[in-house]
Parts: sequence; structure tokens; C-alpha cells
Amino acid sequence: MKRKRAATTLAVSLVIALIVVACASMSGGGPDLVARGLQAQGGADALTAVKTISQKATVRYWEPEQSAVAGGEMRFANESTLDMVTDVAGGASRMDWVRKYEYPAPRTDTFSEIVTADAGYVAGIDSSGRTKQSLESNPPAHTMSGLRLAAAQRELLRTSPLLLLEMSRNPDRVAPTRDVTVGSASYPAVTYQAAGQAFTVMFERATGLPARVRTLDYDNIWGDVTYDLVLADWQAVNGVRVAMSQKYELNGRTVVDARITEVKINEPVAADRLAIPAAYRDGAPGPAARNVPYQWVIRRQFIGIYLDSDVPSFDRRATQSLRLVELGPGIQHVVGGSHNSLVVLMKDSLVVFDAPVSDWQSNWTLSALRAKYLGKPVKYLVLTHHHMDHAGGLRAYASAGATIVVGKGTTEHYRRVLAAPYTRNPDLSPQDLSHTPIVEVADRYAIIDSAREVQVYAIEPNPHAQGLLIGYVPDAKVGFVTDIWSPGGPLPDKLNPALAALVAGVKKAGIAPVKFAGGHGSTGDYAPLAALEGK
Ligand SMILES: [Zn+2]
Repeated sequence: MKRKRAATTLAVSLVIALIVVACASMSGGGPDLVARGLQAQGGADALTAVKTISQKATVRYWEPEQSAVAGGEMRFANESTLDMVTDVAGGASRMDWVRKYEYPAPRTDTFSEIVTADAGYVAGIDSSGRTKQSLESNPPAHTMSGLRLAAAQRELLRTSPLLLLEMSRNPDRVAPTRDVTVGSASYPAVTYQAAGQAFTVMFERATGLPARVRTLDYDNIWGDVTYDLVLADWQAVNGVRVAMSQKYELNGRTVVDARITEVKINEPVAADRLAIPAAYRDGAPGPAARNVPYQWVIRRQFIGIYLDSDVPSFDRRATQSLRLVELGPGIQHVVGGSHNSLVVLMKDSLVVFDAPVSDWQSNWTLSALRAKYLGKPVKYLVLTHHHMDHAGGLRAYASAGATIVVGKGTTEHYRRVLAAPYTRNPDLSPQDLSHTPIVEVADRYAIIDSAREVQVYAIEPNPHAQGLLIGYVPDAKVGFVTDIWSPGGPLPDKLNPALAALVAGVKKAGIAPVKFAGGHGSTGDYAPLAALEGK
């Protein structure tokens, strides 16, 4: 009895000690931090008086997972100018963009987005991956998918100068949390539940102003990642302080750098500027409530190739599903979406080239292959290159036991990728993939069994990605190529550097393909392409 009481007393004092420690690191708790931040931003009255916000900004974007070298320097994607108006009471924002791309190719897109609580709308062309609705609209326009709308609403809330006002009005959704350390700085913080998300709002100790607004996202390459809005350079406009520097950090790397060049509060805004035309508003999907692949939706827009569909892999207005197309005996092309795979049947197993978009697409392919080739596991997944749109579904194959075949110099990158935790992956339960076998191809590689041989060749040099591979099935004379050629479309008058790299690579390999299937596009005869050499 006595011993039991002693144990209980010890447990109680431990609990008290833990509570004391927890409270000490919470710096006075959630509501206090929000109230202090609100005061620092000008006070509740000044923020409540804000009816419209007009802003101009220049914004630069970088994409880490389209790099020339796996794990290497990010691609500078584009520099944009933004003209934005928000009607606070109406809950609507309009963003007029001029976006000058440098990657994947120089191009300028001029378009507008309108985001309301119920619908999103894009006027103009904002992507090279256009939906059927955009292609069929004159002038070009389309309704935002529920995924894009949810992502847009999340980022509008995160960047809103009125975020703390909203938090102060919803104290039941604010909770204290531990201090957050970023680099050498430690921030007192609260969490805020809104837009289906948990935001961690971190405050500057000295000023009480919000310093960072974090979400915990899923990235198809790096798994669980942090996505932080970093606020700085606060300036007073009509008694309200606004952060003129707004950057986003993805796992600590700056991928968006927005410089606000002008802010006007309560300038009149014509109502029709914020109205979505009825033809695009009626029947528009509301914001997706769950499983929004935020990083995919947001970052495909950085490089101007986002397919604005509620199924990230394909345009739901154009097709109902991905599908298998047979290119030869035991050769299936996975098509119907923006990104394809090639599947080759061996005696007792399958070889798959590329794992595009997400584990959702990989799961679709694996399930279609189980139905078609019962009892034949995918033994090899060959990744033509490390870019997020062609490798982002690798985990499902690794989890199914596949050996990953990769290009020269990329093993360490994939080791790190496969070791990264991915608890937020909506399509795959977490497991340890760090021991997945990886085969690195320096020059050429053959997968052989008693029925068939499948070959893999390095295409070096090439202008797209270091370590890029192509596939070849000698008995069918069918090749597989991603990004340096998208077969099925018209050929140019002469070879560009990417096509020239393919032609040189085929020659060096000493292979004689009749057809290529593409990671994009469909299939194309090789001879007309090879005939362009020297022209
Ligand atoms: Zn690529």
C-alpha cells in the first residue's frame, strides 16, 4: 500500500513537472500570442476596418525537383508580376498575373484567377497542360478543380494580412503548441485549424508579429515536408502593418520570393472584377475537402504545366480513366493521362518504366497489371530520370518489392528519397523503404530471363537531366523515351538538342528501334526522326 502511494505520488509529480515544462515553452499560450500579434499589426479595430486590399507584387519561383542533376540546384522557374484585389466581406480575391517563364522554356502567360469561397476561375491560358474545357473555351478560360481551389484558398488565408484577426475571432480553433526552432531561431507558436488544415503560426519574440506560417505537406519526392510562409519587412498602411516580403520555404529552401511593391487599403473595387462568369460558376466544384496534393498542385503551377483536374493524373473532362494500350506481345503503354509508363512482360515478372505523378497513379497501374498479368510481380522499376513528375510514384513500386533502376550518379539521391518518412502520403501506408535495392546504370544495363531481354541505355550528354535513361525491347524493336522526345506529335524541321541527344544515344547503343513510346504523348516511328539528322 505504502509503495503504491509512493509510486502514485511520483507519477503525479512527474505529470506536474511535465505540465510546467510544457507551459514554460508555450510562452503564455495561444490566445495571448494572437492578441499580441494583432496589436502589433495595428489592433483589432484597424484590421476590422479593412474592407478591400489592393496589392502589387513581383514574385520569383524556383522548382527543386526539376533540377538538371538529381538533388542538385533548383531550377529558376519564372518571374511574375501580380496585381491583386481582395474583397474581405465578399470573401473573393482576383489575381491578375503576367508570368515570364524561364523553365521549362521561355514563355509569357498573362491570365487572371478569381477565387471565392465556393468556386475558382481562370481567364486566359495559365498552363501548357490545358484541360478540355480550357481548349474548348473562346476566349480561353476554365473552372478551377476542387484541388486547385482548396490550395488557392489555403494560400490566400496564409498570406492574408487579416489572418490574426480571423484567428482572434475563432479562439476555439486556436491551440497553444510547443516553440518551433528554425535554424538558430526559436519561435513561440500556436496552431490554427482552418481550410481543412492545421497551420502553425510562429511569432517573433521581440515584436510579437507573425514570423512564419507553416503547414505540414506531402511531397511526392521528399515525403513529409514543411512549407513555411516567411513574413518580413513590415510596413504600415492605413494603420495596418503588412509584410512586404513574403517568401515560401519548402523544407528550408526558398522556392517563392514575393516582394509586395504596393498595398492600398479600402480602395474601391468594381464588383464585376470579382465575379466568376455564370457559365464557369454554375456546377463548379467546391474546395476539395481532403487529400489535396498541395505541393503537386502549387508547384506544377510554378513551371506552368499544371493540369487543373480533380484527378491529378488525367483530365476528368476528357477521359474517365487511365488505360493500357498494347504495343506488342506483352508490352503495355499506360496512357490516358499527362504522364505515361511502359510495361514489359517477362517470363515470370514485369518491368515498368517510370512512376509518374503520384502513388495514386502507381497504384492504378499496379492494380491494372495484377488484373492483366496475375501472379507476375513488378520486379524492376526503371526511372528514366529523377524529375518529380516521372519519379513521384516510386514508393508504391518499392513497397511492392521492385528493384529501382536509375541513372548514373543518382543512387545517393534515391537512397535519401527512399529513406524519407512519408506519413502524409494519401495513397500509401508508411513503411521502411530504405533497403529497397537500387541498380545504377552507368552506360547500359540488361534485364534478362528465359523469355525476354529488356535493355536500358544512358543518353549522355543530354540537355534535360543528368543520368537520363531510355528503355528498349529488342524483340519488338520498341523503345521508351521521356522528355527528350514526346512521340506522337508532329516532328520539327530539324533536330533540337534534346532530339539530337536521343538520335546520338540510339546510334551509340547500336539499337534499331522501329517505334518509341513516350513518357508523354503516345507512340511514334523512329525512322522519320533519325532522318532529320544533318538537316
Ligand atoms: Zn523531366
